[in-house]
Amino acid sequence: MTTQNAPAPVQINIPAHQGADSQGTAPAASAAPAAPQAEQAAPAKQGGRAEREGRPARGRGRSAPRASAPRSRQGSGAKAQGERQESRNRAGQAPARGRKPAPKKDGLFFVPLGGTGEIGMNFNLYNLRKDGKDNWLAIDCGLGFSGNDTPEADVLVPDPTFIAQRRKNLRGLVITHAHEDHIGAVAHLWPQLKCPIYATPFAAAVLRRKLEEARLLGEVPLHVIQPGSRFEVGPFDLEFIPMAHSIVEAQSVALRTPQGTILHTGDWKVDSEPMVGPRTDFERLAKLGDEGVLAVIGDSTNALKEGSSVTEGAVRKSLTDLIMGLKGKGRVAVTCFASNVARIESIAKAAQAAGRKVMVVGRSLRNLEAAARECGYLADVPPFLTEMDAEVKNINDNQMLMIITGSQGEERSALSRIANDSHNTINFGEGDTVIYSSRVIPGNERAVVTVQDNLTRNGVQVITDRETLTHTSGHATSEDIRHLYSLIKPKFSVPTHGEWRHLTAQGALAREAGADVVLLEDGDVLDITPDKLEVVDTVPVAKLAVDDGRLLPMTGGVMADRRRMLYNGAVLASFAVDNEGYVIGEPRISAPGLLDPEDSETQRIQADFARAIDEIPDELREDNVAFRDAARTALRRALGRKLQKRPLVDVHLLRV
Ligand SMILES: [Zn+2]
Ligand SMILES: [Zn+2]
Repeated sequence: MTTQNAPAPVQINIPAHQGADSQGTAPAASAAPAAPQAEQAAPAKQGGRAEREGRPARGRGRSAPRASAPRSRQGSGAKAQGERQESRNRAGQAPARGRKPAPKKDGLFFVPLGGTGEIGMNFNLYNLRKDGKDNWLAIDCGLGFSGNDTPEADVLVPDPTFIAQRRKNLRGLVITHAHEDHIGAVAHLWPQLKCPIYATPFAAAVLRRKLEEARLLGEVPLHVIQPGSRFEVGPFDLEFIPMAHSIVEAQSVALRTPQGTILHTGDWKVDSEPMVGPRTDFERLAKLGDEGVLAVIGDSTNALKEGSSVTEGAVRKSLTDLIMGLKGKGRVAVTCFASNVARIESIAKAAQAAGRKVMVVGRSLRNLEAAARECGYLADVPPFLTEMDAEVKNINDNQMLMIITGSQGEERSALSRIANDSHNTINFGEGDTVIYSSRVIPGNERAVVTVQDNLTRNGVQVITDRETLTHTSGHATSEDIRHLYSLIKPKFSVPTHGEWRHLTAQGALAREAGADVVLLEDGDVLDITPDKLEVVDTVPVAKLAVDDGRLLPMTGGVMADRRRMLYNGAVLASFAVDNEGYVIGEPRISAPGLLDPEDSETQRIQADFARAIDEIPDELREDNVAFRDAARTALRRALGRKLQKRPLVDVHLLRV
């Protein structure tokens, strides 16, 4: 292990942190300068750790012993600090003046705010503290899709509050590649980050389109970095290393720091025939391994999968055979991830070989085609047609191949609309074929099956990767991971990009290769020293729902109300009162999503509510707020136990 100029392990005074989680106060005392208390309290509502949903509870027993006892090393000094912290939390105010916090020691910290312990929303932070000054670097800023457990939301992004409060010291955001789970949140969150962005030409081309849609293009300092090059962001000495993945120009990032070199892998796989773009640069990786790497921090997605990855070249061959075999047989449509440039090229070349013209259907495909061609990709396949081209009308069914969006069963996608006969211009039927050149992202199974079922009902032949080789994953399998560790020979491994099963599986492979493994999850603050990696603190993390351009906390009022209405409906009551607070006329009740207006239960609730507000004491009738609160309680009581539901309840009081 060669870690030059390695300083002694960092010893930091931090609060032991008990009690702070549930109240969301004082995030990351160790990793950042304390922000003003008022600012720190702000994100608590949106999600201290206690508000995280579906997270394993802390102390539930992690499989990596190193991470399981993170907060005990400060000894008695820390205990005193911890007690101070607790007393401050109880009192809700800052500790007594005169006790200046100890100056912070230099160090390197890793803080994932999204993507570790979950799928999607990759948002990683590094903090290189030099001369007592924090220097934050973000790597990737992606979105996630809401699963079946949160149907009230669709697209999610990580809550950036923690780093937004420290954006003065945020030196930049590095994008490893242009997949949505790495780049998709940038346009949503940049206004809170306002930092320069570093990306390869293709990722920059994709990002520019997103920023343009968000009307941010002119504002964002976007630096284009060539794949495989070395560059600096603030005090960070960074190097891109090309990796094969299911998108072009995927890069891992080597961070050379005073503590040692970190290899942040990004998404990657071993692929001897990536078809478009270079293979994973193992020569470079081996050299880096020889220089000495302190830790590998990276992709766990396919760590559970045995064996080696299937190459993109094998998929190209199989798709070509398949499409050639459909020669003369009606229309062929292929659905795949729009960003997989190599796959799009494979499909286009197969179409060419089978004498079919290519038409792309769906906005994301048109955008990605434009970005790819702008960067010199797809150069040897002719420009694709779109539905708008007049020429399309004159092309026979058996001379047409469509590349189409909707491989995940997305409701508004072209393929879903075609499948349920609601597309404006395209319909499929007997003799046509739809090929799924994709996998189903967990959570989308039901939606995908529904689309496939609708297609089959219309007489369409549906071919998926279950019947034929039509897809390969872009993520490293167990054999791939073993190969990487054999070259890098890191001292430590920190699995990210996956749920706990995936993280644990990569951890096992890393241990096999002789690395010490630290398992952590979003919000953990990992102190990285040449000798030891240790979780020393946690910071608040949360998810925000993207709701027609707004960002709403998943645990906040609007989304919580929506969830409640979704399952329990709502009951709204309105009534008018005169100046003295006497009820005029009859109160009205409506219960959308719960009861029909004609339902006798609605009448019963209305009568009970009318009686209950009559009984509200006079002293509460003068003040609108007090009156409304009392009426709301009365309404809840009127609903009674018969309904067995707890609907959203609201009351409108009109003083006339
Ligand atoms: Zn990813
Ligand atoms: Zn990816």
